[in-house]
Amino acid sequence: MTDAEAAPNQEEFTATDQCVMCGLCLPHCPTYAETENEADSPRGRISLIQAMARGELPADRRLSTHLEGCLSCRACEDVCPSGVPYGRLIDNARTELRRRVPPNPMRDALRQAFAAHRTLRRTLYAATRLARLSGLWSLAKRLGIQRLPGLGRLHALTGRLPAAHLSFDAVGRDSNPAVYLFTGCAAEIFDRETLEAARRVLLILGYHVLTPEAQTCCGALHQHAGDRQAAQALARANFSAFDNDIPILVTSSACATTLREYDTLLGAKGRLFGQRVHEIGEFLSATPWPEALEPRPLAQRAAVHTPCSQRRVLHAPDVAFTLLQHIPQLELIPLPGNDRCCGAAGSYMIEHPQMADALAAPKVRAAADLAPELLITTNIGCAMHLARALAENGQAVEVLHPVTLLARQLAGMPPRA
Ligand code: SF4
Ligand code: SF4
Repeated sequence: MTDAEAAPNQEEFTATDQCVMCGLCLPHCPTYAETENEADSPRGRISLIQAMARGELPADRRLSTHLEGCLSCRACEDVCPSGVPYGRLIDNARTELRRRVPPNPMRDALRQAFAAHRTLRRTLYAATRLARLSGLWSLAKRLGIQRLPGLGRLHALTGRLPAAHLSFDAVGRDSNPAVYLFTGCAAEIFDRETLEAARRVLLILGYHVLTPEAQTCCGALHQHAGDRQAAQALARANFSAFDNDIPILVTSSACATTLREYDTLLGAKGRLFGQRVHEIGEFLSATPWPEALEPRPLAQRAAVHTPCSQRRVLHAPDVAFTLLQHIPQLELIPLPGNDRCCGAAGSYMIEHPQMADALAAPKVRAAADLAPELLITTNIGCAMHLARALAENGQAVEVLHPVTLLARQLAGMPPRA
């Protein structure tokens, strides 16, 4: 059904009235910068959401194109002088769109399977590693898999798949301060190295690290797709898995924002849960660094990319610099254009490849100018998207999480008692 009708849950859209249509957010919106279409700007999208909620606009393809085209980067929310909670509004709008227009069942099933089933993720990891080691992956490229929509993009994104074991065992002394480690869904396949690095660094700094097996995806993919029910089910599973009142550390900044905002999915108990959530860079930056602990020097140049989740939502853009300053001789340079989204945005980079590529292009050019050996980022989605874009541009830059680099330079150091 696409006819105009008022949304039954009007209170979810009252915050649109906070928008005074000043337009101060427009220069900060990446999609507006690309299309120069008001309907692809925050102000335009808020007007569309208002009209849809009041029943003045049918939920047709044109409306969904403009609302789905938003990256949820929240640059607009960050600069808005009226405090419009844009991130929450766009999620609510997508939920309303989904109520009116039946979603693609195949896409839903794939998202659900990937997010909620660790066995499937483990199988995918093993199969992809095998395909790459056996040469099947290169053969698929030679046969032109890159030209197939969706599949070609997935193939290119899996160019980054380091061999690493993922362990859920507790590490560190029971008597040391305990922390939880959140593993996430994509990170369990594509960022095992960072998860293991986080465990090692925390162990060296004297923590008792718990990694509950019962945890699951944070729910961001579902929430941004308007599937609130599925997102809530995942949030409830995580609420049960992280049941002790201790900090929950997250290596992916985008997952950290979702977990921190569990009040939108679980209400008051979600708010309390969110207060325990820390992006790992923030947590480690606030941890006193032992004087005797000196990482090995590294005479390399590293460009630092700051994900939108880290800058716009967590408001902690400098954590990678704070952490990596412990490594002697490492040259750290901010990647120019860090205030603009790279286009990764969860599954956006697969569903909207043209816009995603257009937004990655300036990052690739900036990296070419700096010629770094390393590119540092705190979000797995950005890491995959940028690694693919850099590789396609012929740049041999290793893309990695700051904690991974720190763990490498701390290799062999004993755990702190
Ligand atoms: S969202 Fe905020 S900054 Fe943008 S037009 Fe509305 S009031 Fe102005
Ligand atoms: S969230 Fe980002 S892409 Fe979406 S309207 Fe705001 S600035 Fe534009």
